[in-house]
Amino acid sequence: MATTRSTRRKANKTAAQVVVVGSFNQDHVWQTARFPQPGETRLGRFSTGPGGKGFNQAVSAARQGAATLFVAAIGRDPLGDAAMALAKSERIDGRWQVVAGEPTGTAAILLDAQAQNMIVVAPGANAVLSPAQIEAQRADLEAAQVLLTQHEVHPAASLRAQSIARAAGVLCIHNPAPPLDGGGDALISGADVLTPNETEFAALIAARDGDSVDADALLALDDDALHALCRRLPTTTVVLTLGARGVFVSHADPAARNDSAAHYRLPAEDVRAVDTTGAGDAFNGGLAAWLALHPQRPFREAVQYANRVAGLAVESHGAALAVPRADEVRKRFG
Ligand code: ADP
Repeated sequence: MATTRSTRRKANKTAAQVVVVGSFNQDHVWQTARFPQPGETRLGRFSTGPGGKGFNQAVSAARQGAATLFVAAIGRDPLGDAAMALAKSERIDGRWQVVAGEPTGTAAILLDAQAQNMIVVAPGANAVLSPAQIEAQRADLEAAQVLLTQHEVHPAASLRAQSIARAAGVLCIHNPAPPLDGGGDALISGADVLTPNETEFAALIAARDGDSVDADALLALDDDALHALCRRLPTTTVVLTLGARGVFVSHADPAARNDSAAHYRLPAEDVRAVDTTGAGDAFNGGLAAWLALHPQRPFREAVQYANRVAGLAVESHGAALAVPRADEVRKRFG
């Protein structure tokens, strides 16, 4: 049983530039000097805040100034009510499927003194986001510039969004996170731009070719070898995020993205990392927003902007709420 609520503005509605189809999770975060071993108890500090890859990415896109629509499923519970209120306060146009009998998604995050994280996610309502809820947003999807999807909601919903967007010529970015058994093939081949981190990339190559690729070994590859590996995936542009090592971009056809090089790297920004939770989400939202706002500019500029957004995000604790706004990005990097 699901009902639909909307925070849609009625008059003079701005058409959404970025549509994010994805998860909302309430993050519960414990900071501790080092991770406990199985069976061990450690003391730590607790905090809670909004998260979920979809929501984090929607906040990131909205904070960069793109009119952002977010399609998601939540439980009929206080965490779901808080999600709707928060989206409104971030100027995100939320299209909520409110699911009776499933809780709003939650995540348990452990953080150690080295800013590493360990995470368990309970998807709850996210797992039943329906194609019907997507279909109800068809007109907005068709009018958007960019669609952004991930792997934290029911794949049938993401696939429906991608097929509507593709048919309308909307740029489809797919963030293949977290890794899926079998790789999530249809979403990967349907995307224009794929944004894995090194672990997700290794899982995709393994799922596709049966090769076991070690994520650490990827870091040792030279650019030509990494480009060749990216080209084994069906997506025309692969943006491989490499944490503190920055980003690697691989195009099948650079001219189609207004770039001159088929592959290149950008180093990470020089920042003081305190919490890398949600770095990839900040990056994806920043990338989607830039591409939506500047569709004719070189793709490299979008990657540079996303790298800056993500770099600033890791300087603060939290996921969604750690994402900088466009004016903060400008102030820091010009
Ligand atoms: P995920 O959060 O999905 O694991 P990554 O760890 O690859 O993704 O980080 C995504 C992006 O965030 C990087 O490509 C980079 O732009 C930025 N980033 C992450 N860690 C750092 C860091 N320590 N210093 C600067 N930028 C970082």
